[in-house]
Amino acid sequence: MADRFFPNEMPDTAVEAEETSAQISGETLIKLLSFPYETLSQQFKRAALDVKDAVVRETWAIAGKPVQDYTLYTGALGTAFLLFKAYQITNNRDDLNVCSEIVKACDSASVTSGRVTFICGQAGVYAIGAVVAKHAGDERLLGRYLTQFKEIKLPKDLPNELLYGRGGFLWACSFLNKHIGKDTISSARMRAAVKEIIKSGREMAKKGRCPLMYEWHGKKYWGAAHGLAGIMHVLMHMELKADEVEDVKGTLRYMIKNRFPSGNYPSSEGSESDRLVHWCHGAPGVALTLLKAAEVFGDKEFLQAAVDAGEVVWNRGLLKRVGICHGISGNTYVFLSLYRLTGNVEFLYRAKAFACFLLNRAHRLISKGKMHGGDRPYSLFEGIGGITYLFLDMIEPSEARFPGYEL
Ligand SMILES: [Zn+2]
Repeated sequence: MADRFFPNEMPDTAVEAEETSAQISGETLIKLLSFPYETLSQQFKRAALDVKDAVVRETWAIAGKPVQDYTLYTGALGTAFLLFKAYQITNNRDDLNVCSEIVKACDSASVTSGRVTFICGQAGVYAIGAVVAKHAGDERLLGRYLTQFKEIKLPKDLPNELLYGRGGFLWACSFLNKHIGKDTISSARMRAAVKEIIKSGREMAKKGRCPLMYEWHGKKYWGAAHGLAGIMHVLMHMELKADEVEDVKGTLRYMIKNRFPSGNYPSSEGSESDRLVHWCHGAPGVALTLLKAAEVFGDKEFLQAAVDAGEVVWNRGLLKRVGICHGISGNTYVFLSLYRLTGNVEFLYRAKAFACFLLNRAHRLISKGKMHGGDRPYSLFEGIGGITYLFLDMIEPSEARFPGYEL
């Protein structure tokens, strides 16, 4: 187990970090942790803007050929989303223009894909395309992307999970309604998909101990990417009937009750392997979902469970990978989200610690082969595109949102 993550040797609290750094000279990791946030956030910004240019060079500018992988997850749309994030911070129109060009290429590349989600499908291309067109003031393009989005057809046999299923389509609808305007996608359209999700969840649960259950490729996953955490998270953004709310709450309570003694969450129903501490599988993705539950329902039990999950991430989440999906960047968002909801600066300290670990050590550890740079090393969800996105979020930490998951 120990080889999946670095032992977390950083001080547990901000006060301990202050005390330790006072005894040390030189710009070490511990020293970084005691920097005033303003100084640190300038460092994150500088690093992010440098790496952002490298990401664009590697995934777009020098490619000079049609887009192979158009997805947000490992492909060109991830670079576009990163550029949009950079534009929101710097107001640099060049970023917005290149972003728009990339989305156009993704549009062409995705024509025959048939995937319908935000992270791995056409819904992501059209939704991001529409929002970027709005910012660019291009009404015609905005209209075109919205029309394409509204023409998406959901196949009958679609799964329900986030990366390829109904959940991922609904998330894209919420993204549009947030960024373009309420009812951009009608509640009737969304309601039809919600009904399908609830219906198939109840059927699969078969009146078992958990009110809702789902399968993806024959496995009953629990995590954010393919399982319960991701589906419940999306449902909590929807208008639900009272009995549906109870089923969502019941499902989350079932997960909390059946988590591992360590506090981590199984990657699938019945699994006894307490190994993965990722957004995709394990405590980090579940923590973000529980925080949404705490926000929406106001129940203390969900907040407490999220704090418990955050403790697992602090101890075992310093992964030997960099990305958003199963790397340190994604795990950092657990602390950012805890901070946003509670206002407790100890969570901001922990976010800062994970982000500083990346800032101070990731490059060196990757070049020495001690850390995995990602199968798609510049991508948003697996590679340094994810670090860059996180660093941009660290500039205004109370506004940070896990890309493609938190709205
Ligand atoms: Zn993953």
